[in-house]
Amino acid sequence: MSLASNSYLTRLNPQQLQAATFTHTRPLLIIAGAGTGKTNTLAHRVAHLIASGLNPGRILLLTFTRRAAAEMLRRVDGILQGADLTTDSATSRIWGGTFHSIANRLLRIYSQSIGLGEAFTVMDRTDAEDLMNMVRSELQLDKGDARFPRKGTCMAIYSRCVNAQEQVEQTLKVHFPWCSQYPDQLKVLFREYTRAKHQQNVLDYDDLLLYWYHLLQNDQIAHHVSERFDAVLVDEYQDTNILQAGILQKLCPGGRGLTVVGDDAQSIYSFRAATVQNILDFPRQFPDAEVIKLEQNYRSTQQILDSANAAISLSPIGYRKELVSVRGPGQKPTLVHLVDEDQQSRYVIDRVLHHLEAGIPLRRQAVLFRALHHSDALEVELVRRNIPFVKYGGLKFLEAAHVKDLISFLRLAENSRDLTSAFRILQLLDGIGPASAKRAIEHLASGSFDLKCWEGFAAPPAARIQWRPFVDLMVNLARAAMPLQQQIAETREFYAPILEKRYDQASMRLRDLQQLEQISSNFRSRSEMLAELTLDPPNSTQDLAGPPLLEEDYLILSTIHSAKGCEWDAVYLLHAADGNIPSDMTTGSEELIEEERRLFYVSLTRAKDFLYVCFPAFYQYKRPARGHSMAQLTRFLPDEVLGHFDQVSLRNDSPADRPEKLKGAAANIRSAIVGMWE
Ligand code: ATP
Ligand code: MG
Repeated sequence: MSLASNSYLTRLNPQQLQAATFTHTRPLLIIAGAGTGKTNTLAHRVAHLIASGLNPGRILLLTFTRRAAAEMLRRVDGILQGADLTTDSATSRIWGGTFHSIANRLLRIYSQSIGLGEAFTVMDRTDAEDLMNMVRSELQLDKGDARFPRKGTCMAIYSRCVNAQEQVEQTLKVHFPWCSQYPDQLKVLFREYTRAKHQQNVLDYDDLLLYWYHLLQNDQIAHHVSERFDAVLVDEYQDTNILQAGILQKLCPGGRGLTVVGDDAQSIYSFRAATVQNILDFPRQFPDAEVIKLEQNYRSTQQILDSANAAISLSPIGYRKELVSVRGPGQKPTLVHLVDEDQQSRYVIDRVLHHLEAGIPLRRQAVLFRALHHSDALEVELVRRNIPFVKYGGLKFLEAAHVKDLISFLRLAENSRDLTSAFRILQLLDGIGPASAKRAIEHLASGSFDLKCWEGFAAPPAARIQWRPFVDLMVNLARAAMPLQQQIAETREFYAPILEKRYDQASMRLRDLQQLEQISSNFRSRSEMLAELTLDPPNSTQDLAGPPLLEEDYLILSTIHSAKGCEWDAVYLLHAADGNIPSDMTTGSEELIEEERRLFYVSLTRAKDFLYVCFPAFYQYKRPARGHSMAQLTRFLPDEVLGHFDQVSLRNDSPADRPEKLKGAAANIRSAIVGMWE
């Protein structure tokens, strides 16, 4: 290749260049701090591989979210086009996605070899919990012992055992000590749960990794699968779990073709069984590995980095990265002392609008928080002031009842053994309750799960009118002869009157379904759409619609977890109080506190130019019970870190003194007077 065609590499610094062009056959680890260009380097490496003639269809790129995969492929495309290298849609041939979505794709190819029906469907978390619950009741585990763990806990234990490849006893001892008297019952439960999934030809979320892992334990199949890929690249490797590391080992024997990238100081998913040991042990696991460190930070100005460096340096774990900016000192971050949440909302909005005036669009500003409900008050205020926003990490679009209903029609059509979906949609019909739904399902089973056999089912009288069109619809969908968009349109037509009868705000809900119909054209098939929606559930239809139109601008609200890998010109961290961060759910163990410290570090290192940390002194708890208390500043900001912040106090300037704030007091007086007579 001529030097001229290498022009796309000139923006990289020497270490980045070395990483991007390092021979693709040897294992490579890029370990470096936040904002040093790890993801960017990975994108250049992919572009370089393609420019050097590697077949894009033989490149596997694993990211943490669907959004990250799409963004990375966009970057690769941009790099190639910027260098005038014709891509012939090269990037669309790359295997890009999360571990779970790639598992889904591969398992469909190899389903025969592992005894999975081709048309398996993937259950979402709630359905999986419901199935677990059904098995739990069938086994009568809930009888006689009120303390036997509930479905959510059973699922969490199960998930941890699978992802950490741990024995039940061990998981209970370390993570669920209050359930440690039930290992035998839980094993029976998990076995029966697994059987039930098998019968229904469904997989749960964790099964995708588990099946992929087991698929690769067979040498012959492992060879076949690994032969598909010349290069496997993984971003955010610090947040992978044991199963994922095991998968990579088999996929890239000896580390051949494997590149992993990550930052141990940003590992924040141990609650999902991720282990930072994967990245720390990489050089030992693959002795042939090259390790490249990146030192310069291109994201944030130096004073922001100083605050982040100071915050992480207090960790006893001893992270050794001192980030150095190429961008000059910039502005000190600001710690803002506020009276309460309302004042915090007003302050944040004022600053957001100030920066907007000064030329930073809303989309390049983000408000971050530890827990989803921390932004409740801000959202109310944003709506009141007509400021558009998108929230990440929030209630998933798919969990909305009407979306789930529509998806369940498609799922049952895809896999007629998917009884959870069958049970759900049957009960949408007039006159069909759990008992008749069960009868209908038995009828279906006796007809070998051919949906057509429902034509002969004696539906309850109240369901007679709807029954025939329902069966016709299902049979038609199952044939899958129509384009996906039309399948959704026809389902929507059938379902619309049901929706109008059952739910409020029907027109808004119908609009969601219309949008779902539109974006369905982004998917190659029904099974792909169903799996993708389940594996990485979108927050809103907007999340699925691809890059937003240029004129659309909205503020980003995000949990810190969902902000991983992202960056914004201005970042506002809400509720920097002990109990919020670190979350008081985690203050029990030192390990968990350290994870919270890394989370705090992740939040600080998202900011490019402006960083505001907000500390309202008065906090109204909504969970677990209502109440309020004076907050303490987060323990992650002791004096030695605070020295790196400008501090502003708005506590004296408090609208809390305004008379309308005294309304609560009036109510108290009234109730005291009424109380006299009780
Ligand atoms: P994180 O740890 O948060 O995931 P990262 O190490 O993956 O961060 P990137 O997101 O790849 O960092 O890069 C951070 C920013 O620095 C991006 O805006 C990227 O475009 C920019 N950047 C990276 N390398 C260079 C470079 N050599 N020259 C100019 N800008 C760069
Ligand atoms: Mg990154």
